[in-house]
Amino acid sequence: MNPVVVAVAITGSVPRKKDNPAVPTLPAEQVESTHEAFEAGATLVHIHVRNDDESPSSDPERFAAVQEGVRRHCPDMIVQFSTGGRGRDQAARGSSLSLRPDMASLSTGSVNFPTIVYENATSLVEDLATKMRDNGVLPEIEIFDLSHIHAARRLVDAGLMKETPHVQFVMGVKNAMPAEEHLLDILLAETRRILPKATWTAAGIGANQARVMDWALARGASAVRTGLEDNVRVAKDRLAASNAELVRVAVDLIGRHGGRAASPAEARAALGLPAAA
Ligand code: ZN
Repeated sequence: MNPVVVAVAITGSVPRKKDNPAVPTLPAEQVESTHEAFEAGATLVHIHVRNDDESPSSDPERFAAVQEGVRRHCPDMIVQFSTGGRGRDQAARGSSLSLRPDMASLSTGSVNFPTIVYENATSLVEDLATKMRDNGVLPEIEIFDLSHIHAARRLVDAGLMKETPHVQFVMGVKNAMPAEEHLLDILLAETRRILPKATWTAAGIGANQARVMDWALARGASAVRTGLEDNVRVAKDRLAASNAELVRVAVDLIGRHGGRAASPAEARAALGLPAAA
């Protein structure tokens, strides 16, 4: 088994400190939480930023502060910005891509979420993909539905994206795709057919986190994803003490599948990223 990239989604746009005091929402807290996760074996950090009142933010200064802190404390870590839309002005979602993070998330289609429609019009998707291409940012395609794989292929055909994106199947968001093992096989088969050079991972939301990770590892995923964004618990009845604790759970699961967490250099090689500057 190849070394597996451990991605940690430290903050997200939904959980608040009242849900779990360990959710890092200020830049300094986010840098510290990332550093702990890095030392526990994570090599990719997925970043949302918040305003002081914990509402989602698109402020490039906040993104810059977190990126700078992460690069100072763990220079090899792969930095991925979210361009996700929850609670953010559509027009501002790509405003931090000029900071040239290693990667950014890119949702290629719309989907129902628990209480909103997560809107990703084709024009917006193309605009974000163009900014990523022009800034040398590797997209992580967020697949909430089968059609989103085909939308990603259209970006490749239009010259807006290389044939080697990283793809993440997101399962278990209420009102969107359920976390069912046979659906992962369908998504994976379709991705291998139309985006054969893509690397891939799968994210299970809430109580689905561990089992989706298990299915992904059994199918040779390039990466697994964990973190407080997706799930504030390590068990049904216990809050996670930190992102690092969730990373340790993921690293343990990788070991039980006969693998190990990738080193930072291995993680960059696996995703086709250049060595850290
Ligand atoms: Zn996110």
